[in-house]
Amino acid sequence: MTRPRVLSGMRPTGKLHLGNYMGALANWVKLQDQYECYFFIADLHALTSDYADPSRVKLNTLDVALDWLAAGLNPEKSTIFIQSHVPQHAELHLLFSMITPLGWLERVPTYKEQQENITGKDLSTYGFLGYPLLQAADILIYQAQFVPVGQDQVAHVELTREVARRFNSMYKTSVFPEPEALLTPTPKVPGTDGRKMSKSYGNTIGMTEAPALVAKKVVEMSTNGQRVRQTDAGDPDMCPVGELHKVFSSPETIASTQHGCRAATIPCEFCKIEAADSVCAVTEPLHQERARLEGRIDETWAMLREQSVKAASRAEQTMLSVRTIFDISRDLGTVRRYFVQRAEGEKELRDLSEFANWWELPQDQRAKQVREYWRNNLVPREIHLSQESNRVFATLDRELEEPFLSSKKKRVFVSTSRDAEAPEAWKFEIPARTYEVWTLLCWRKKDLKLFDFPIPQKVFSQDFAMAKKSLKKNEKIPVCITRIEGDHFHLSIAGKSSHDITLLEKNYEPLQ
Ligand code: SF4
Repeated sequence: MTRPRVLSGMRPTGKLHLGNYMGALANWVKLQDQYECYFFIADLHALTSDYADPSRVKLNTLDVALDWLAAGLNPEKSTIFIQSHVPQHAELHLLFSMITPLGWLERVPTYKEQQENITGKDLSTYGFLGYPLLQAADILIYQAQFVPVGQDQVAHVELTREVARRFNSMYKTSVFPEPEALLTPTPKVPGTDGRKMSKSYGNTIGMTEAPALVAKKVVEMSTNGQRVRQTDAGDPDMCPVGELHKVFSSPETIASTQHGCRAATIPCEFCKIEAADSVCAVTEPLHQERARLEGRIDETWAMLREQSVKAASRAEQTMLSVRTIFDISRDLGTVRRYFVQRAEGEKELRDLSEFANWWELPQDQRAKQVREYWRNNLVPREIHLSQESNRVFATLDRELEEPFLSSKKKRVFVSTSRDAEAPEAWKFEIPARTYEVWTLLCWRKKDLKLFDFPIPQKVFSQDFAMAKKSLKKNEKIPVCITRIEGDHFHLSIAGKSSHDITLLEKNYEPLQ
């Protein structure tokens, strides 16, 4: 069973505070068991506002990573990575910037708000305007279905949905699912002065701070004017310490301190010590785990690099489709046919879909046309090129579904393989999807000869279904064609069965 995919990130602004922990991180830790999670440290986002002094970006990134791990984000359950280590984020952002109207970005509520509120930084930059679009790329590149966010970030998810919709409709595709905001109720943690906990107010309690420091900060907290004289009754709903109890204390402690406050039967000092105990019960294990991790910093960095490679490989899957859509794929692909060198007098080749009367041609001519098309458009020309420690550098496997092959618009899987070993054998990997026909092209390096086998479903369906059952996630089914006794070709699926497919060579008839 595949779990729904979730993506979220945080800007690296240094060690996290209790507001970050209760507002997001504690929830993420729970999500790990329910969803396929991708969590990233958004260092590129940090640069959109801190570009003038980037000296702490890496240190802050590590601080965030250590706090995440201390809180229980687990690289065995989730992919935890650094945004800039997956360059596909920047690539997709750039491509999205081609199709996104300027007005969409100018309308994002946080754009104007932050420009006005953040003083001392010039945020009238292209990068800052575009950061919600970078967020859209962050989310869509993993084709995430859900984004856990606070209410203030819902507008960004909405922009992401609009970008996905525009892309899909502009290019008539469904590459990007429209993600949904995963709103979870998160308690508001008051800062030590009663305002929202925020680094810019200097009122934070660190989530991995030493217990003695946490306790000191709680004990020194403001009561927001409540119980100036300890003989006065107070209202715990008006006091930040009362709010802290609501987030961290047991129902019994909340009840007893609230009663003591309203009846003026407990001193504030006692109430604060109780609150400090409740907070420390949460932060002390986090503090200890962080201290342990700080002693193994190289391992943490290696983990982040490794996980970033994993994230990049998932991101690359999406980028392959996106690059193809923008016609900037790394394959020479179908433009190859414009550069085909033809013998004098040979007719120019065209895309078979342009052949109006193609199905009226006699079978042998039709087969010839198709084979010419394969040869010129699908068989890579780079095969004479580089070899690295006996490994062919340019892979010859490719996957295509070309509906024109079948007059009934049936799905056809086409793949090319070069013979790699003796006796002659060609290996293919076939995705576990339903195809009516496989066309397997076997390219022989000795004389560059092409053998092609259109194989109808009835030949492979049974073995394919069996192989599919034992498949792990995202695995493809290995298929091999072997040439034996000179003129016989045998097909084996997942190494189990063998079918003589000699007669299927150039047999395009089943495609009708
Ligand atoms: S008793 Fe507790 S909740 Fe009431 S005012 Fe004092 S610190 Fe605040």
